[in-house]
Amino acid sequence: MPVLHNISELIPCSTGLPRGETGRILDAALAWQSDRIAWLGPASELPSDFANEDVVDAGGCIVVPGLVDAHTHLCFGGWRADEFEMRCRGVHYLDIARAGGGIMRTVEQTRALDEDALFEQARSRLAYLTTLGVTTVECKSGYGLTLHDELKILRVYARLKALGAARIVSTFLGAHVVPREFRDRREDYVDLVCLEMLPAVASEELASYCDVFVEEGAFTEDEARRILGTAASLGLGSKLHVDQLSDVGGAALAAELNAVSADHLEYTGRDGIAKMVEAGVVPVTLPVASLYLRQPPLDARQWIDAGAEVCVATDFNPGTAPTGHLPLAMTLACTMNRMTPDEALLGATRVAAQAIGLEEEAGSLEVGRRADFVLVDTPSVNHWLYNFEPNRATATFIGGARVHAR
Ligand SMILES: [Zn+2]
Repeated sequence: MPVLHNISELIPCSTGLPRGETGRILDAALAWQSDRIAWLGPASELPSDFANEDVVDAGGCIVVPGLVDAHTHLCFGGWRADEFEMRCRGVHYLDIARAGGGIMRTVEQTRALDEDALFEQARSRLAYLTTLGVTTVECKSGYGLTLHDELKILRVYARLKALGAARIVSTFLGAHVVPREFRDRREDYVDLVCLEMLPAVASEELASYCDVFVEEGAFTEDEARRILGTAASLGLGSKLHVDQLSDVGGAALAAELNAVSADHLEYTGRDGIAKMVEAGVVPVTLPVASLYLRQPPLDARQWIDAGAEVCVATDFNPGTAPTGHLPLAMTLACTMNRMTPDEALLGATRVAAQAIGLEEEAGSLEVGRRADFVLVDTPSVNHWLYNFEPNRATATFIGGARVHAR
């Protein structure tokens, strides 16, 4: 049984702690047996039966739970760096989309690649994320928008999951945008999602959740009700992309539909906040997207004051958030969303696990839980997120196995 010693601070983020608390333990040790945590606490209290076990030296690092990215679009065909340059010049995102860029361009590029090619790209992106300390990733489809291409993307995620390089939770986002070929008959596209795509996704067990992008130019509340209702009848949980560009009442809709999370929420008003808190829907902030779009970020203090815990995720996608750097998103959650470093860490661990229904498995360090943890070379969580460096994770463990070491 390996025992990790010389941990300056162990930050378990346990599920039983009061809201906002991380349960920090100074001068700690952590023991695990195969893929499960066997013991953790102050090193001075390490039971004597563990004394002669394999010793792993943490080198004075802090140890946090494996990071959980609860919102990514990991599988996509090709980048859009030229659009980035156009946006830098001041061209609006919606004008780029109208000119054939934006999500539909990624859809075309994703349709053009076969499953193996997409798998290789997604695998290499995922390998990079694990070097940053990310051990669990929620992955959305939504760049296929045909039955064949949506299943192709979800099969890529199933292969990544089988690989075991990280824990993967898949979400079907067939209702990302109405594809160009359905522009004048959007009801037919909603029919396709409900009558063909969702039953196929459910029968192959390719996704745990269904997500809908509710926004002007995407899907309406009524369409979301129908799609997520169909998904629920097939055993899929609900997620929503809402209130990103305006308050469309998305938070109230998420509460009404008992969604596990609602994501973006930049424009959600007090009413929507209260309804989501009451219903226990996890709010997910995506500050990298706010940064790249130069849009007003979600005010996390409003949510926290209303009784919520806020999840922090990347929204990794080739348009509005072209990086899967979760520690960067955590720093931005502090500077842009006004979260404390501890709240940002919780938002990318325990709260993030809750946002994807994995709170019993991931996002905290507790005896009996999976041994997913990260060694971070920093004196404290405050220092880590304040003095930003490209990568402070010196080792990442998934199920007790070291998948990254520096
Ligand atoms: Zn997204």
